[in-house]
Amino acid sequence: MARLAPTPKAITEAITDPVCGMKVEPGMTRLVSNYQGHSYWFCSEDCRRAFEKNPEKYLNPKTIKHKWPTGWWGRYLERMAKANKELFGGGPPRCH
Ligand SMILES: [Zn+2]
Repeated sequence: MARLAPTPKAITEAITDPVCGMKVEPGMTRLVSNYQGHSYWFCSEDCRRAFEKNPEKYLNPKTIKHKWPTGWWGRYLERMAKANKELFGGGPPRCH
């Protein structure tokens, strides 16, 4: 959901909270933010506030670094993520 151009189709579909990646159904929430002519829905007020603080951060994935930190801490985080995936079946991400 990093498109900047308005896409009317997206309004009728379940869309993704650009902040945490959770699926949000438009119409189920009033947590909407308009940015550059596009509406974005959020699962919580926290996510909406985070988005409005810095929309570019969430709309331009190129600027977000997904690289793990290097060193033992990075390896630890990676292992934790893997363990979580096994425990919880790799379901949709949740922010709360
Ligand atoms: Zn969220």
